[in-house]
Amino acid sequence: MPLAKPDATSSAENRELSQLRALMVERYVAGRGVKDPRVLEAMRQIPRHRFVPQVVRAKAYGEGALPIGSGQTISQPWIVGRMIELLELTGKEKVLEVGTGTGYQACVLSKVAAKVFSIERINELALRAVELVRELKLHNVSVKVFDGTYGWSDQAPFDRIIVAATAPELPEPLVQQLGRGGTLVIPLGRGENQRLARVRRIGTGVQIEDCGPASFVPLIGRFGWKDEEKGK
Ligand code: SAH
Repeated sequence: MPLAKPDATSSAENRELSQLRALMVERYVAGRGVKDPRVLEAMRQIPRHRFVPQVVRAKAYGEGALPIGSGQTISQPWIVGRMIELLELTGKEKVLEVGTGTGYQACVLSKVAAKVFSIERINELALRAVELVRELKLHNVSVKVFDGTYGWSDQAPFDRIIVAATAPELPEPLVQQLGRGGTLVIPLGRGENQRLARVRRIGTGVQIEDCGPASFVPLIGRFGWKDEEKGK
């Protein structure tokens, strides 16, 4: 008797997942105003369900943020798309991400930028993210464990910087590591009062643009919140 093809179910399952993903992008990302076609396509490609814990996997293609362990969350698909869109990437840029979390956003970025350097302060999260980056064969993503408020000085300057946790004020090292004409997208403030800011380096100063409300976990570190409770 012929053996069942080991990947027969999984390819059907993959088709179904990719349909769910397309729906997620259409409803919860494009449907909420994200327009950049490259960002939408990248989000159709990256298998978000593989980044979330098994217990919440059924919700991977919903619209919400989800718990990822260590008290952290993977952001709503909409805000991931929105923040990346705000970076106005052409595909040639070197990007720094602070707050790797599951690695999902870093992997989406890898499809729309040239190189992605991502920093996470929690070792277990970073390890799992590195594993996924490898499994997905994304060769332009590097992850390290460190306090990302210091930036990644030996890779600076960056064309773009994206911070996935909310800060009390602009972390000075990140502004310093932004190249000429570069853009930094970062949530500022705490709890319910967070705002998404887009910062551009103009000459010796910075120009800050308010891009609407945000809801992130706190950025903990030397140039962030000094202790976890304060940023909540
Ligand atoms: N982009 C992630 C979600 C990020 S949640 C994803 O796609 O899954 C925010 C992350 O920022 C958390 O994992 C938290 O541990 C991390 N973080 C907080 N402060 C940090 C710091 N100073 N340096 C690096 N990572 C930090």
